[in-house]
Amino acid sequence: MLDLVFRAARAVLPGGERAVQVGVADGRIAAIVPLSAPPLAAASAVTLADDEVLLPGLVDAHVHVNEPGRTEWEGYATATAAAAAGGVTTIVDMPLNSIPATVDVPSLAVKRAAAAAAQPWVDVAFWGGAVPGNAGELRALHDAGVVGFKCFLLPSGVDEFPPLDPAGLLEAMTEIASFGGLLIAHAEDEAVLAAAPSLPTGGARRYADFVASRPAAAEDSAIALLLDTARRTGCRTHIVHLSSASALPAIRAARSAGLPLTVETCPHYLTLRAEEVPDGATQFKCCPPIRDDANRSRLWDALRAGDIDMVVSDHSPCTPELKLLDAGDFAAAWGGVASLQLSLPVVWTEAAKRGVPLTEVTRWMASAPAALTGLTDRGLIAVDRQADLCVFAPDTTWTIDPAALRHRHPVTPYANREVTGQVRATYLRGAPTAPNAGALTHADSVTSAR
Ligand SMILES: [Zn+2]
Repeated sequence: MLDLVFRAARAVLPGGERAVQVGVADGRIAAIVPLSAPPLAAASAVTLADDEVLLPGLVDAHVHVNEPGRTEWEGYATATAAAAAGGVTTIVDMPLNSIPATVDVPSLAVKRAAAAAAQPWVDVAFWGGAVPGNAGELRALHDAGVVGFKCFLLPSGVDEFPPLDPAGLLEAMTEIASFGGLLIAHAEDEAVLAAAPSLPTGGARRYADFVASRPAAAEDSAIALLLDTARRTGCRTHIVHLSSASALPAIRAARSAGLPLTVETCPHYLTLRAEEVPDGATQFKCCPPIRDDANRSRLWDALRAGDIDMVVSDHSPCTPELKLLDAGDFAAAWGGVASLQLSLPVVWTEAAKRGVPLTEVTRWMASAPAALTGLTDRGLIAVDRQADLCVFAPDTTWTIDPAALRHRHPVTPYANREVTGQVRATYLRGAPTAPNAGALTHADSVTSAR
């Protein structure tokens, strides 16, 4: 006897959209049969409405939760509530902006305890950090369950998470390769930034000046260093939040030469354009920056061609004060766009305009990030996977109201934007998970599986 059956005229399965019944037992997908087959017997049933599609729960592999230490910016309770509301059933927490940073096993234990104490609405997994002097900690962190290691190649913005220089990067990647681990990097070159036009002090309100201060060449140069170090060490390498399309030829060449390389980009680089960012609108500030429309089109082409593997949020909130919204100063404002709850609708809105099918968007946002992080028990609607599911209405049009956002400080560049595609329900291990909506369940454990 199954616990639950979903009946869906449209469900995104690994082989494409199908009309199916999905049976759930003990939190896992136990059976998938055609919708036209005799009904699966189950204790309860959910029949999707005609305008709904059953998707695998999304896996967001790039989220900054900041708890403990900067919980006033964002915490596990609020971040995972936003995730659940956005159809995301697993987040992978970045190692920095919390205190401690996740750079050794004791700090990982502190992070895990904080996540568990917050009774998260979705599963949480963890990245470790590679910082100067901690190469000796990396294997133990890997054994303790982090999914990989994040590093910066320029100052990260917080003192407790310093960047690696080229020698430090080589040391870390050599060590990580020795146990088959994964290195992920924020790729901007400090020397290129230092040579770029600097922002006026005391009121850098022009967005064009901000973009000019963070040129694509800074990304391209740092990516060249990463690719070279990957070649020397054989270390699995992943480029986070690619913004510069001019790095794509080098990425393509490295992949066709067999380098174990993956690449992500983010909703804001795919849906927002430098030409539209108002001066002083620091809710649009992130690093690397949102670039021009021609660059954005090339990122879409690269996604469709498979040169970019996935789309993750880089949810990186802070307090409204640190965004300096009144001053509108791009030099001093904290950089980061917090869009965990909105990733699917904003990306789908643009994808649909471009004729990209939902199956492809689902791969970028669920199965690809699950595979990257080794969370291979989720990310697909398939037998034996965790029954993490999202009920999505792809044709419903609605307007983003910041008041409806669940993360701690609902500052967003998407305010009042009309989008198409609405998350109607989210299921974690076969149970609905969404704050203040219907029958509630919390995640009953913090996931740390690799
Ligand atoms: Zn980030």
